[in-house]
Amino acid sequence: MVNNLYIVTPRGFCAGVEMAIKALTWMLKIYDEPVYCYHEIVHNDWIVEKFRNKNVVFIEDPKELPENSIVMLSAHGTAPKIENEFKNISMTSVNSVCPLVTKVHHEAKRFTKDGKKIIYVGHKNHDEALGALGVAPENMQLVESVDDINKINFHDESVALLAQTTLAMSEWEPILNKAQKEYKNIELPRKSDLCYATTNRQKALINISDKVDIVFVVGSSTSSNTNALVTTISNLGKEAHRIETLEDLKEINIKNKNVAITAGASAPEHIVNEISNFLNPNNLEFYTDTTEEEYFPLPKELRSNITSLSKLLKNMFPTNSKEAVNGISKDKSWSATEALSSL
Ligand code: SF4
Repeated sequence: MVNNLYIVTPRGFCAGVEMAIKALTWMLKIYDEPVYCYHEIVHNDWIVEKFRNKNVVFIEDPKELPENSIVMLSAHGTAPKIENEFKNISMTSVNSVCPLVTKVHHEAKRFTKDGKKIIYVGHKNHDEALGALGVAPENMQLVESVDDINKINFHDESVALLAQTTLAMSEWEPILNKAQKEYKNIELPRKSDLCYATTNRQKALINISDKVDIVFVVGSSTSSNTNALVTTISNLGKEAHRIETLEDLKEINIKNKNVAITAGASAPEHIVNEISNFLNPNNLEFYTDTTEEEYFPLPKELRSNITSLSKLLKNMFPTNSKEAVNGISKDKSWSATEALSSL
């Protein structure tokens, strides 16, 4: 039994993940045939498995897509060349990229147009980094560490710095400082590329860290922002563990410890609840660091497909006056957790 257990807010699904999960759920409801998805829709094993069991086929290359099939592109963003390939092969292609990733793609285009070379801070081979670097491959160079900055040889007058949205602040800040030292005129985006969900979850953990001995971060190994939460706490000299399922708790000494639980932006809430029940604390507190109101609408191609379908059905059945319970006009009040439960 643990002593104090703090369940930290914000945690779990961000607005981008909410949107992507609901979008893929809609696709399954509209189309009878398999829905292909480029990359994992979000980086969480439980969610990917849930969709896989419901007729979603995850693929890693446009070559794997049969002609005239239905495809959704993941929340992490897709390189423009790859997106075009999908458009050419498929019958319907819907891009569920998070708008905050799109912002980084726009910055890469703008800096390239302005003649800048771009240093992109991210994780090699991560889906988001692959998509962003594909915006201007000849113009962008990936760095993963402070040392990597020394290996770059750009001209001082024309360099810009972009980042993967899900980095730990403790990963990003030393690289930013080093880049600003090496390139006095380096340009940055007007607003940080590290997204609100990433930074809010990290700040909340930093703010509760004095009160706890151990932090559990719910999420998959593939989730960059989950790993960033573990890094954030480890860098403070505290014990932190990524937890995928209850099994992962079995080897950890939790007796009489003060514990905080958070969850990465793609981790479903039911796993947090299972862990909280298992820990059976003497005292349970809900710690709210900040509340989030962000909402991202469904991808526009999907909204337009659903609207056309609704119009067609109205014309075919003019006497049916029943309103849809979860129509797209009510999307804001329908959660990704409800969408997953509806599958
Ligand atoms: Fe978008 Fe941030 Fe969520 Fe990634 S973690 S999907 S960038 S809101």
